[in-house]
Amino acid sequence: MGLSGLDIFKKLPKTNCKECGFPTCLAFAMKLAAGQAELDKCPYVSDEVKAELAEASAPPIRGVTVGVGDEAFKVGEELVLYRHEKTFFNPTVLGVLVSDDMDEAKVDQLLGQVKECVHERVGVMLKVRAVAVKAASGDASKFKALVEKVKEVNRPIILMAEDVELMKAGLEAAGDVRPLLYAATEANIDAMAALAQEKGLPLAVKADDLDKLAELAQKLVDMGLKEVVLDPAPRKPGETFKDLVAIRRAALNQKFAPFGFPTITFPCEETQDELYETALAGMYICKYGGIVILSHAEPWRMYPLLVLVLNIYTDPQRPMAVDSKFYEIGNPDENSPVLVTTNFSLTYFIVSGEIEGSKIPAWLGVVDCDGQSVLTAWAAGKFVPEVIAKFINTSGIADKVKHRKLIIPGYVAQISGELEEELPDWEIIVGTREAADLPAFLRQFSTS
Ligand code: SF4
Repeated sequence: MGLSGLDIFKKLPKTNCKECGFPTCLAFAMKLAAGQAELDKCPYVSDEVKAELAEASAPPIRGVTVGVGDEAFKVGEELVLYRHEKTFFNPTVLGVLVSDDMDEAKVDQLLGQVKECVHERVGVMLKVRAVAVKAASGDASKFKALVEKVKEVNRPIILMAEDVELMKAGLEAAGDVRPLLYAATEANIDAMAALAQEKGLPLAVKADDLDKLAELAQKLVDMGLKEVVLDPAPRKPGETFKDLVAIRRAALNQKFAPFGFPTITFPCEETQDELYETALAGMYICKYGGIVILSHAEPWRMYPLLVLVLNIYTDPQRPMAVDSKFYEIGNPDENSPVLVTTNFSLTYFIVSGEIEGSKIPAWLGVVDCDGQSVLTAWAAGKFVPEVIAKFINTSGIADKVKHRKLIIPGYVAQISGELEEELPDWEIIVGTREAADLPAFLRQFSTS
């Protein structure tokens, strides 16, 4: 059970020196208890107290990192049951299963799907982020060969073998890529945990009922393993759903340590029906699946699931924003039109998409409006003449174009006069209200 803010406060130096970034030791203690601050921000805690508090202030669901470098992912560290209470932090990872008893063509097809499944949406790259490699044949050399092949797609690997010797063979082939070991079971837990500990790797634990899963996970906790992934494995859709909810509630509401870890699910092993499998994956994304493993990664299957992950794991309290600067759409030159809008991601991507579609290269200026859309930003005093003028004057756009014509969104036509006063060298042109009308507008503008 974690310590309360007051319990933590009693162990702090109580000097209120503010070096941690909080006004008092008590405020820092409260944030630590809520999992919203890091202990190492206070430089005056002894090592002994540090060890004690680090345990107490750990997030109720620990984080687990799989992979290395840019492609590594982290799951866990969630603090709430419902996204609207705060936000969810580490998006569900979608992965694909390959096994060493598949024929080569099938493996190539699946790995090809993984490589091709990369979509950009509102500036975020959506992709299949893991490959689960299963030792199904029992032949160590086949397992090693498959692991070698999977390494080439450069995604974090989940090594699936319940025989410890096979797992060691897979690990040898995987090398230094920090795979997730799957899985410890009642039959192999001591040897598998020892291997995970020796190599410093995350370990999944699997059981088909929650009591057994709790017992095995507690054993791993007692052995000192910090990075554990839970597989509630009844492999029956309704049961898996209930188990995922029960695990999350036990971790957050009861601070039940054995369930304070992220989860992994295998909809690919719950049905042969590809549509049903996809629907199950959607359900597990919505209800706390940390890693979800599918049988295939075709675009029709992955795109809706990836967008679902993006939507659920977007912070509802913070608008998505793009960087404030001038963007080159197409290859604009000194005669190309100059437009300006706000830095709300959706606004930017819709406007830039329409400009791109018009085939008329343009300069698109994006003003920092805290990620608000045009009308909201105007109403909030963030997309107003002084701010736009300051952005234009400091952006360097005047050095890039010969003309001095600035196109503003039709929704803020009312600011054109005042903006002309702020930017006396520029002619302010009122553009369209809807982005969809931009291509026709730009074509006409370019020929006028
Ligand atoms: S740095 Fe440490 S001692 Fe200073 S205010 Fe923060 S918690 Fe208190």
